[in-house]
Amino acid sequence: MSDIDLRSDTVTQPSAEMREAMFRAETGDDVYGEDPTVSRLERQLAGDLGFSAALFVPSGTMSNLLALMAHCERGDEYIVGQQAHTYKYEGGGAAVLGSIQPQPIEMEADGTLDLRRIEAAIKPDNFHFARSRLLALENTMHGKVLPLDYLAAARDFTRQRDLALHLDGARLFNAAVKLGCDAREITRHFDTVSVCLSKGLGAPVGSVLCGDDAFIARARRLRKMVGGGMRQAGVLAAAGLYALEHNIDRLADDHRRAEWLGNELAALGFAVEPVQTNMVYVEMGTHATALTAFCAQRGIRLTPAARLRLVTHMDVHDEHVPQVVSAFAEFAENMGRN
Ligand SMILES: *Cc1c(COP(=O)(O)O)cnc(C)c1O
Repeated sequence: MSDIDLRSDTVTQPSAEMREAMFRAETGDDVYGEDPTVSRLERQLAGDLGFSAALFVPSGTMSNLLALMAHCERGDEYIVGQQAHTYKYEGGGAAVLGSIQPQPIEMEADGTLDLRRIEAAIKPDNFHFARSRLLALENTMHGKVLPLDYLAAARDFTRQRDLALHLDGARLFNAAVKLGCDAREITRHFDTVSVCLSKGLGAPVGSVLCGDDAFIARARRLRKMVGGGMRQAGVLAAAGLYALEHNIDRLADDHRRAEWLGNELAALGFAVEPVQTNMVYVEMGTHATALTAFCAQRGIRLTPAARLRLVTHMDVHDEHVPQVVSAFAEFAENMGRN
């Protein structure tokens, strides 16, 4: 039996068709701006999301870092969720490499940041304080889709308060598929957007940062500075183009399997959070480590955590769901017996 890997949607293997597209990619030196496939990916995603320019980068972490550094000067501040990837899971890069002070804000249960809390955190224009410059949101946030009316309110608010608005849209297309809308309905509210190709879209490497021409020119300069200028990167961009063409609509299958899995686990008595996209969160408390070991023996890979996260993706199929449910059922039975 092959492994069922529920740790993340980053674990997908490039399909044979995607590898074929990579094999056939036309390439050039992208630092000279001469890789036609990279340029095509940048033009296409910028157009799809309603921006004038875009930049292909090796990772979502670099994409967010370049965005923060292109928006903020040394000594500026960005406002961000306490659990946001940019703040919590990117090695503190904005502070370390950008001298940008983060102002984290407690998050609401739906993944939004309360605009009143943000208002209270904005610093007055006074030399005692860092200059509040930017608000960064994340969508999806722990699998939750930010409501479109919240995005509109955040856009109005940031305009009034003279803040730029950035979206960490690592899973932007999961949000759009869930809402049944064009991704532009989400991205139109933002100055800049970062999208990951290597999560649910199934490409092996890469993210794209979108914005206006002046912003992307600054980001391009910063990308070179942090070592993200790549040469014949068309082989990677080809995987991204393939993913955009073939792997967006199918995210609905990941969402369906996650909801199915969540419902089955809830029926077994597990404390499951409502499922919106491709993530199932189960409260396992102190049982997480034992469950992870139990599942590992059955070919099911989990990351142990009290708030356990199960992620569906291209390489999780319908027949896997009952296998995972059986393992959890058996574990629960053993727990009851002990
Ligand atoms: C994965 C992820 C990133 C970073 O992407 P990497 O390519 O792993 O650096 C950024 N934001 C969110 C929300 C992510 O899930």
